[in-house]
Amino acid sequence: MGNDERRVAVVTGASRGIGLAIARQLAEDGFHVVLVARDEAKLQSAQAEIESKGGVAESRACDLSNSADVESLIEGVVSDRGRIDVLVNNAGINRDGLILRMSDEDFHDVLAVNLTAVFVACRASARPMMRGRWGRIINISSVTGLIGNPGQANYAAAKSGIIGLTKTLAKELGSKGITANVVAPGFIETDMTDAMSEEVLSEAAKRLPLRRLGQPEEIAHAVSYLASEGAGYVTGQVLTVDGGMVC
Ligand code: NAP
Repeated sequence: MGNDERRVAVVTGASRGIGLAIARQLAEDGFHVVLVARDEAKLQSAQAEIESKGGVAESRACDLSNSADVESLIEGVVSDRGRIDVLVNNAGINRDGLILRMSDEDFHDVLAVNLTAVFVACRASARPMMRGRWGRIINISSVTGLIGNPGQANYAAAKSGIIGLTKTLAKELGSKGITANVVAPGFIETDMTDAMSEEVLSEAAKRLPLRRLGQPEEIAHAVSYLASEGAGYVTGQVLTVDGGMVC
């Protein structure tokens, strides 16, 4: 594929962790990857690393907690590149606390980044994808969105919400050649899990059928599949990548 013919893939939360692994993988798959997060310096270094391996990437700093900025982000990509083919809503935060102590602010902050931004990005991407009669929406949820988790009412609400949103998009957009799927990771080694104690993580790993934590690259492979031509008949699905935690 020549540079101009490359399909454009937007990956949010691409400065580190799972999003960075997804961006690297999609660049390797031949997409022009748009890296999105707040930390401009980290985005630049991720972009440089992808380019040094022959990939095509660009960085766009954006705070996804602001809906107007999310809308402008997607509009900017479409106006500069003429297209958006793959949207990976990966950025996510947590503000954990048991329900009795969870503030409205902690609830709304998590919902803003983990669910509202996903909705706004999907809405803004739908029309340009429809014009191209091809699209792949891949939203990153969590096993917490499937089974809940003490201390994560806000995070679980957002991650379950992503599943209902995505299944609805699959039904609304399927006739336009657009698929919409969810990847639900289990425990994956990133900054997010680094915040948990070693002991909790190793206990959790021991209870998993595969007896280990997952790596960001293992989520990236699932996303790569869902973004591929080969996954063209797969839509409205939740692909759980969790070492067998929920099975
Ligand atoms: P991470 O290492 O904490 O990275 C989060 C990413 O999101 C960073 O790139 C961060 O970049 C970006 N981000 C956060 N807030 C943002 C905002 N307001 N605007 C723009 N970007 C923002 O997390 P991760 O572990 O890779 O998780 C990635 C996704 O997988 C999340 O949706 C998470 O819920 C989900 N997940 C993770 C696990 C796990 O075990 N790690 C399990 C299940 C699901 P900046 O800070 O530069 O903005």
